[in-house]
Amino acid sequence: MEECIFCQIAAKKIPAQLVYEDAELVAFEDIKPQAPIHILIIPREHFPSLNEVPEEKKSILGRALLVARQIAQEKGIADSGYRIVLNTARDSGQEVFHLHFHLLGGRRMSWPPG
Ligand code: 5GP
Ligand code: ZN
Repeated sequence: MEECIFCQIAAKKIPAQLVYEDAELVAFEDIKPQAPIHILIIPREHFPSLNEVPEEKKSILGRALLVARQIAQEKGIADSGYRIVLNTARDSGQEVFHLHFHLLGGRRMSWPPG
């Protein structure tokens, strides 16, 4: 997906503050952070949302969660707590249509979300 902003970040064609990368996943700071720690974890492969991830690619979902947990540990918020958000389609408020997990932490969060 040439025009996808997150594909371009994964390919390093657009700059971002990377915090993690491997053969399948990339993590970087959100450009408009909603918490003291706000990192996005994405697969290198383009899926518009969770709705389009096929069964045979399910391992990437588990891996993304474990990378989020690892980053939470490295950032020192594993014990204080953090929230992982996966917005999907219109009603969630999803704005970028390349699958991404938000890792949010460093402040107390309310529930239910808005
Ligand atoms: P969504 O609403 O789709 O779940 O979240 C998209 C997120 O991507 C937002 O938190 C937004 O701030 C972030 N974002 C959008 N464009 C860019 C960008 O070019 N660079 C970075 N680092 N984050 C972006
Ligand atoms: Zn993409």
